[in-house]
Amino acid sequence: MRQLGILGGMSWESTASYYRLLNQGVRERLGGLHSAPLLVHSLDFAGIAALQQLGDWDAAGRQLALAAQGLERAGATALLLATNTMHKVAPAIEAALNIPLLHIGDALGQALQRQGVTRAALLGTRFTMQEAFYRERLAERFGIQVVVPAPAQMDEIDRVIFAELCQGQFHDAARAFYLDCLAQLHERGAEVAILGCTEIGLLLEGTCAALPMLDSTELHVAMGLEWLLDGAPGG
Ligand code: GLU
Repeated sequence: MRQLGILGGMSWESTASYYRLLNQGVRERLGGLHSAPLLVHSLDFAGIAALQQLGDWDAAGRQLALAAQGLERAGATALLLATNTMHKVAPAIEAALNIPLLHIGDALGQALQRQGVTRAALLGTRFTMQEAFYRERLAERFGIQVVVPAPAQMDEIDRVIFAELCQGQFHDAARAFYLDCLAQLHERGAEVAILGCTEIGLLLEGTCAALPMLDSTELHVAMGLEWLLDGAPGG
């Protein structure tokens, strides 16, 4: 198997999901005592979140690029950046690396394309929902039009991510609110929902939404598994 790097800690709640799902995927495919060869650099999210609030994406990009270079030096053959939002600085990370960054937007775009979807609801941080870096990649590379909640709803979705989900709190009120937003986005023509924040799947798992949900964490992990297992026996 190839060795895969994970840039995580944003938040560690979802990095733990990446770790578990990648190992489960390898076990399902190869069985026995096989597990995923991973290198994890888990950052202190408080510092990164502070830079997000300040709008200092250059500093955040430099920090992530340094961490990514460390993973490359340690032997990673590709990287997963385990957050949707921080893909805003993907170009800075890619410029610092000689190995590929497996982009979360491409994992989603490919899945949406396979399903023939052209209009998808997007839930994530306000950066992911409102800014161009994510929506444009889906539109330009995959022809996906993104529908986002009303501004006041986006504020509450974003608040829940940072004040609750990234702090390990998964409450019924937030779950009901997210599902209500999804029902409204379905009425506005969305065919599926992108869970475009790596912690939202933890909140909504086991629930039934008005439209099918595509979890960015699961699809990104699947992309990582494909890389890890390329050439491995059994498939
Ligand atoms: N994990 C989240 C995401 O997928 C939010 C945390 C962050 O701002 O990186 O966007």
